[in-house]
Amino acid sequence: MTVRVRFAPSPTGLPHVGGARTALFNWLLARSTGGQFILRIEDTDQARLVPEAVGAIEESLRWLGLDWDEGPDIGGPYGPYTQSERLEHYQTYARQLVADDTAYECFCSPERLADLRTEQQKNKQPPRYDRNCRDLEKRAEQQALGGGAVVRFKTPDDGTTSFTDAVRGDVSFENSTIDDFVILKSDGFPTAHLAHVTDDHLMEISHVMRGEEWVSSTPRQILLYQALGWEPPTFVHMSVILGPDKAKLSKRHGALSVLQYRDDGYLPEAMFNFLGLIGWSLDDHTVIISRDEFVEHFTLDRMGKNPAVFDAEKLTWMNGVYLRDLPEERLSDLIAERLETDLPESAPRPVDDKTVRALVPLVRERIKRLDEIAEMVEGFFTDELPYAAADLLGKRLKKTPDVAEKALRLANERFGAIESWQHEAIEQAARTLAEDLEMRPGDLFMVLRVACTGRAVSPPLFESMEILGKERCLQRTERALLRF
Ligand code: GLU
Repeated sequence: MTVRVRFAPSPTGLPHVGGARTALFNWLLARSTGGQFILRIEDTDQARLVPEAVGAIEESLRWLGLDWDEGPDIGGPYGPYTQSERLEHYQTYARQLVADDTAYECFCSPERLADLRTEQQKNKQPPRYDRNCRDLEKRAEQQALGGGAVVRFKTPDDGTTSFTDAVRGDVSFENSTIDDFVILKSDGFPTAHLAHVTDDHLMEISHVMRGEEWVSSTPRQILLYQALGWEPPTFVHMSVILGPDKAKLSKRHGALSVLQYRDDGYLPEAMFNFLGLIGWSLDDHTVIISRDEFVEHFTLDRMGKNPAVFDAEKLTWMNGVYLRDLPEERLSDLIAERLETDLPESAPRPVDDKTVRALVPLVRERIKRLDEIAEMVEGFFTDELPYAAADLLGKRLKKTPDVAEKALRLANERFGAIESWQHEAIEQAARTLAEDLEMRPGDLFMVLRVACTGRAVSPPLFESMEILGKERCLQRTERALLRF
């Protein structure tokens, strides 16, 4: 059997990490078995559509490197891949079910349904359609009132509906707990149940992999498969994602849209690795796993049943690991690209490539996200350093500004005499000066750091000064002297 899986998002908002994880596991199952990964847009809930969502979904998948074999943009043999373009299929099968008497038209007005619900609430009963329109006479009464019809499934009164989930094992629901659910709305649009089942069947989907929140809908879908005489796919319900406080993951936990992570300077390979470990493991200890290794080792039987925790700190840590591991060339390109947008306006554009390349070895051990970089290195690209005079002294020289001033003046003189402007020579001069002045080297370095880079935290000082160049360092120490 060829594995055919689909990622079937509803375009009701920007894709979040939960959806991205669903897409990723579907993609992994396809790629690890030589199967196909399909993108299907489930836009049947027209009231909740967000126009830019489809574009954002596609962009997120592309960013993560989750390429699809069939989809709305590229078509394929089972298209169209957008549900609103497939209405006639759903209508055909809804009619067939009505003809078979496994579904029926219901004319109950929204008012009647609302009254029913209020009544049930009052009596502490679960909200449930009272099957009024199963009765032909009562149905005619409602029809006479002139409302539109929906189609409801005729759920069997007793018995159980079961399925075997690849992660959860056997799952059963009493039919008596299942409503006569709507399959086609009065506007001719299907509900999600009918749409999933129809499309998964027609598109020959072999595995439905989705979030655990769909478990309770599955028996309704199984009932539809049975009524239509179709073989259900294998269901794989992935564990729910929790925040570190064990509550369901939400924005409050810093769970953002996928594209937000991209904009915040996360690498797609880190995000891929991180998402791939939410609900799946290679063994009990391996954390850094490349895309190829995931594809090589992915199997459904290593998917976990227990809720998985989204640990934003781990993601950031992992991003740092991937950043440090990037080939110098690529890191340098990414940093340059980032600086183009993030550096202050006073820095000339295009950003100087040579400086970026020189900086890479200095910053690669220090950054965990690309969005940290601009602040860290802006002093290399602009002479407008925004530090305050007090920063020059820091905590330790606050009470002795004259010491700091003298040190900086002498440093300026001695640096001026350095012929070969290399970090070893600069460091030697600075250390000798500290000794001569009986200053702690760290105190002197702090003054120099702020004067030359504009910041109390910077890449290694003397390497930074070498990259800045002699002339710029002398100018900057002179300018700093004016601030005493
Ligand atoms: N459209 C559904 C969602 O966005 C997908 C459900 C499914 O995968 O079956 O969650």
